[in-house]
Amino acid sequence: MNAIQTALETRSSSLLDVENIRADFPILGITVNDKPLVYLDNAASSQMPRQVIDRLVHYQTKQHANIHRGVHYLSEVATSEFEVARRKLQHFINAREEREVIFTSGTTEAINLVMHGYGRKYICAGDEIILTTLEHHANIVPWQMLAEEKGARIRVVPVNDAGELLVDEYEKLFNERTKFVGVTHVSNALGSINPVKEMIAFAHARGVPVLVDGAQAAPHTAVDVQDLDCDFYAFSGHKLCGPTGIGILYGRASILEDMQPFKGGGDMILSVTFEKTTYNTIPHKFEAGTPPIAAAIGLGAAVDYLSGIGMDAIAAHEHALLKYATDQVQSMPGVRIIGTAGQKAAVLSFAVNGVHPHDIGTLLNQEGIAVRTGHHCAQPVMQRFKVPATSRASFAFYNTLDEVDALVAGIRNVQKIFT
Ligand code: PLP
Repeated sequence: MNAIQTALETRSSSLLDVENIRADFPILGITVNDKPLVYLDNAASSQMPRQVIDRLVHYQTKQHANIHRGVHYLSEVATSEFEVARRKLQHFINAREEREVIFTSGTTEAINLVMHGYGRKYICAGDEIILTTLEHHANIVPWQMLAEEKGARIRVVPVNDAGELLVDEYEKLFNERTKFVGVTHVSNALGSINPVKEMIAFAHARGVPVLVDGAQAAPHTAVDVQDLDCDFYAFSGHKLCGPTGIGILYGRASILEDMQPFKGGGDMILSVTFEKTTYNTIPHKFEAGTPPIAAAIGLGAAVDYLSGIGMDAIAAHEHALLKYATDQVQSMPGVRIIGTAGQKAAVLSFAVNGVHPHDIGTLLNQEGIAVRTGHHCAQPVMQRFKVPATSRASFAFYNTLDEVDALVAGIRNVQKIFT
């Protein structure tokens, strides 16, 4: 199917009422440099619908107090709403139990929690941790810090030229010293969707637990942690229409119970004396101090909003946008798409001959088009593809084919200016 056919088909059969959806997002109506905003930086942070904004306002104006420690009306309301949000997240990822959902400040903190709580307890000198070339720095650096502290070793799964993990090589990395696997569900730099379910099954058959970095998957596809059978799954609220400063770590209850706490302080204890502290039960053992209560409740509203649209419909619409954009961009002379995996989420990383990615970003911005340029906190991916940086357009369910057209016209304009 060519680009025009894809466009016609998508316009007539889109599962989503995108115009109405866009009306929920006040920010999509602004202009940038006197042009309508074309927001294609969703992999960095997505935008927030009015339903989430209104929920935050309602909380702050009618329900706010500190949680878990008060007997007064507002404290009880805030506590109840915070725990309702936890249950919403539990259902969003189909976790067995709500205590398997830990609120964190985001994916980065969730991975650091696992590194401190699990890694520092169980990983020893000579042990090996398997990561992949496609990891975001958030799923590399904490493990490097651990490896340095413990004398452990990081092993890395390579990718082919399309940006697909070499699963055979992954399997070959396992040996009796392998103690942990960390893998991103979707690459933020290339969009590759990794075969995490198969990778988890392989690791489990050898008794090795797996953490999945779901930062780029949870906003775009239905996640079922029971079906994946992962031990840990992490994602951030701000990439799925929720607030910043909130995210979750899913952890299998039996593993979480045996882990050591990450941070010490209020709320994570049952009793404290100067001689001994007894820790709280999960998930509270991992939620020291006052959590971002409003943000957690806002995240609950965000997953309600996404579930209301339907994750399958979201995935289908974004896939159509990606196909339409890919068809056009790959036929442009002088433009190279970096990341052409068979299974991809709606991320289009590209390089334009003779133009630095930052110049592309700046020129597109003059047209009101927001893309990200740089190494995307995935420098090993850049090294693998021998580029210092890429330009990255990343789509959400509220993007349109017209916006893809604007991007393509913008890239043509960049090429004209530089030739
Ligand atoms: N992992 C992946 C795959 C990401 O794309 C990101 C953010 O871009 C992160 C982790 C880190 O997320 P946060 O900065 O919200 O903690």
